[in-house]
Amino acid sequence: MSDTLMVEALPSLLPILAIAPAQLLRGNGILSQLPKYLSRYGNKALVIAGEKAKQATASHFGNTTLEIIYAPAIADCTDANLAILRQIVQQEKPDVIVGVGGGKVLDTAKLIAHQSQLPIATVPTTGATCAAWTALSNVYDEQGAFAYDVTLDRCPDIMFVDYDAIATAPKRTLVSGIGDAIAKWYESSVSSGSSQKTMVIAAVQEARILRDILFQKSAEAITNPHSDAWREVVDASVCLAGAIGGIGGASCRTVAAHAVHNALTHLHQTHGTLHGEKVAYGILVQLRLEEFQGNQLATTSRHQLLKFYEEIGLPTSLTDLGLNQVTLAELEQIAAITCQPNSDIHRLPFTVSPSQVLAAMVSTTSPITATV
Ligand SMILES: [Zn+2]
Repeated sequence: MSDTLMVEALPSLLPILAIAPAQLLRGNGILSQLPKYLSRYGNKALVIAGEKAKQATASHFGNTTLEIIYAPAIADCTDANLAILRQIVQQEKPDVIVGVGGGKVLDTAKLIAHQSQLPIATVPTTGATCAAWTALSNVYDEQGAFAYDVTLDRCPDIMFVDYDAIATAPKRTLVSGIGDAIAKWYESSVSSGSSQKTMVIAAVQEARILRDILFQKSAEAITNPHSDAWREVVDASVCLAGAIGGIGGASCRTVAAHAVHNALTHLHQTHGTLHGEKVAYGILVQLRLEEFQGNQLATTSRHQLLKFYEEIGLPTSLTDLGLNQVTLAELEQIAAITCQPNSDIHRLPFTVSPSQVLAAMVSTTSPITATV
């Protein structure tokens, strides 16, 4: 036997992609089908929902042999709420978790299912985020500030998009969803636009298509929630935005727009604004930072967005975000948090200082002719 050890090549596993829910069901009034699809996972379902979503779905669980347990209504994805829910899972031993609601409720339900190794069904009740699709949960602290995110094993097992349910949500939620979804292009093209990787190229190009669909159809969708355009914009914000994150993987995730959002959540005055509204403003801040590098295309993009935001009702400035009383010290704090070492802002292809972030934050609506 030879003394020479054969060096075995170690398998080199590329990052695992969680691209999409195993099944996506869409249609009008399809929530009535939910118990039938849940029963494939067993006899007992734990529903995690906000108060309104709980009421909206209760009627659909009337005629079923499935045992339905409702978790106490939660408003936020926090460590304290997660601990309560884990205890309920231990006591009740459900066969499947069902998340019904907006992004925070869905993130909570997905994370509980992930931690409990249970199947998960998601039912978005607004068009405000792609949380019903993605294998990611954001956790917030008790004050409502962004704390950390968790990458999940996989996307949900089944996702139910009931357009009738989403149509009852306030118009503002879909507008916010548009702001979050359109960020996919501005963030992924900066972080991954020069990638040679097939899957990443595909994701960035899908993000461009998503942006174009939103430019073309959002105004009509907002005006008429029963139009075809409305349905397509819901699909764009709730589904396609999620698919882009799935195909592109970690390399195609968030950059400065979300870094600004995450920092803004530390100001209690921003808690009345929605995720996508803060992200939309964050895109403008990101473009300003690119303008500071002499990027004229960024100026053009920002003005295109300003026009679009005004058309559909997204915030363009600190005042629009309700921060007209914000102090310089608070803005400095936001800029410092935005530039923390682990912030996604460092995925920009240039270094950024807190003073540049502050300068960008107060000049999101500056005219084209302004010197940068
Ligand atoms: Zn987002």
